[in-house]
Amino acid sequence: MKRNKTSVKNSRDPLSAEELTVLEAGMEHMQDDRSKLPPHDRSEHAHIWRFLRNHKLLCAVSILLALLLLAGLVVGVILLIHHLTAPTDTQLQEGDPITVTFFDRDPMEFDYDSLVKDGVFYIDMMTVADCLNLKISGTEHRLCFEGSDESRILFEHEKTYATINGFAVTISVPRIDNKETSPAPALVSAGSCLVPVSFMSEAVESGFSFKLNSETNTLRIRRVLTMVDNNKENAIPSPVLFTSDPFEEYIFPEEIDPTPRNPVYSIDISSYEKYILAEELLLVNKNNPLKSSHEPNDLSKLTCPTAKGKEYYLKKNAARALSAMMAAMKADGVTDVYVTSAYRSYARQEDLYDSYVQMHKNEGMSQAQAEKMASTYSARAGESEHQSGLCIDFTTNSMNGALETDFEDTDAFLWLSEHAWEYGFILRYPESEKKVAITGYDYEPWHYRFVGRAAAEEIDRRRLTLEEYLGKA
Ligand SMILES: [Zn+2]
Repeated sequence: MKRNKTSVKNSRDPLSAEELTVLEAGMEHMQDDRSKLPPHDRSEHAHIWRFLRNHKLLCAVSILLALLLLAGLVVGVILLIHHLTAPTDTQLQEGDPITVTFFDRDPMEFDYDSLVKDGVFYIDMMTVADCLNLKISGTEHRLCFEGSDESRILFEHEKTYATINGFAVTISVPRIDNKETSPAPALVSAGSCLVPVSFMSEAVESGFSFKLNSETNTLRIRRVLTMVDNNKENAIPSPVLFTSDPFEEYIFPEEIDPTPRNPVYSIDISSYEKYILAEELLLVNKNNPLKSSHEPNDLSKLTCPTAKGKEYYLKKNAARALSAMMAAMKADGVTDVYVTSAYRSYARQEDLYDSYVQMHKNEGMSQAQAEKMASTYSARAGESEHQSGLCIDFTTNSMNGALETDFEDTDAFLWLSEHAWEYGFILRYPESEKKVAITGYDYEPWHYRFVGRAAAEEIDRRRLTLEEYLGKA
C-alpha cells in the first residue's frame, strides 16, 4: 500500500491529506466489490474481445465460412492447373461428331459415342493396319498387328493390357471427364479393334503419328517419312515400329480357381491310370541334395520317343505316365518332341559337372571361378533332380535337340502347358523371378517332373512350385 501511495503521489499532482483518506477509503471499498474494478485490459481492442465473448456462435460460424472459402480457392487453383496440363484428348467437344482422317483416305465422320467409350477416345486399329498394310493375325477377340522387323502389338477383347514385342503393358489413359489416368480395355470384336488413341500414339515408336484438334474434334493419322541423304524429295516411309518403353509393366492378377479340375484324356489311359495316380513327392534341390548312394530301385527303360542311339530310364511310375503322356501328344498331332535326358546317376552327374569345370579351367579360370561358372547351368552331383529318376528334359527336331528357352515356342510346350498335369507332370522350374528364387533354378521350359496327378493338378492350378506345395525350402 505504501508503495502504491508513493507512486500515485509521484505521478500526479500532490494530494491533500483529506483527499488521500477519501481515496484510500474508496479503494478499500472497491476491493470488497471487485465488479466495480475497471477491466484489466485497458487497450483499444478490449471491446472486440468483449464482443467475441458475448457472440461465440457467430464467431465460430464466421471462422468456418472463412476456412471453407479458403479450401474452395485451393481446390479451384488445383483444378485449373490440372485442366491446363491435362492431355489434349481429354478436351474433346463432348457429343459433337468426330472426324478422322486415316492417312491419305477421305475424312470419315463418326458419332461421338462410337469412338468415346467410358470417357476414353478410341481408334480402330483394323483401319490403321489396313492403310499401312500391316500383317494381322489372331482370332475374333485377340488381334496381333505386325510392323517392320517383327515388331508387334497384340490386343485382347476387354483386357486392360497390350502385349508389345512380347512384353505385357498396362493400357493406361487419361479420361475425358478429367479424372485421373486409369487403365482402359481394348475392344476387339467383329472385325474391329478399338484401342485408346492416347495409348496408341505413345506405343508407336516410328512409322505414323496422331494429331488431334480438340476444338474441331478432328483426328489426323499420318505416315511419318524419313529423309534420305538429307533430301526431302528422297523421303521414304519410316518403318512401323511399336515400343513398350513408355508404359508400366502389366502384372497379371493371380486368379486361382479353387475347384480341382477333372482331366479329359485324348487317349484311353485305363492301363496307365494307376501309374499316373501314384504319388512321387521326393524333393531334390540345392538345399535338399541326394546322397551319392541314392539310386531308384525300380528304374524302367523308356519306350517313348527319345534321342536316337541312347537308352533312358525313369522310375516305373514316371516312365509309364510319360508313355501315356507322349502317346496323347501324338494323338493330338504333336509329333516333333522327344526325351533327351532322364535318370542320371550321381557318378554321371559328377562326371558331367567336373567336365564343365575342367572346360572352364582350360579357358584359364581358377578352380573356384570355373566351379562358379559351371554351377550357373549345371547341378553339382546330388543337387540334380535327374538323380531322382522322376524328371525328363524334352527337345524337338526343330531345335536340333538343344535345351533352349525357345522350347516355349514349340507346339510341344503349348500342349504340355495345358495337359502335363493330367498325366502327373509339372513344369518344375517356372519363369517368374519369384519362382526362380524359390526353386534356385532359372526358367527351364523343357524340364518336367513327375509328382502324380493329384499333386500335379494342384501345383498347376495354384501356380505353385514343388517347394511351395510341400511347404519346404
Ligand atoms: Zn532337366
